Amino acid sequence: MSKEKKQDKAKAQEESEEWLEELLGLDKEEVFIDFKCKECGEIDKVPEYVIDEFSVDLKPGEEVELHCPVCNGTITRAKDAPSE
Ligand SMILES: [Zn+2]
Repeated sequence: MSKEKKQDKAKAQEESEEWLEELLGLDKEEVFIDFKCKECGEIDKVPEYVIDEFSVDLKPGEEVELHCPVCNGTITRAKDAPSE
């Protein structure tokens, strides 16, 4: 539920690293997150940066919800997250 807050301290360093990576053209591989449709079960891979953008408007505890490309239902982040 609250695993989004380990970044505060590392953030400044992370940002400078990102800056460096961009400078060197070493952009990280794009990360895709599985979203699953509640209606039809379609799995849609959503780039993490898109999720981040949608997350900005969320209240704590809310999930990003997007529209299914197949049936236009609601897709939410698939729960079987790999261990990190
Ligand atoms: Zn669907």
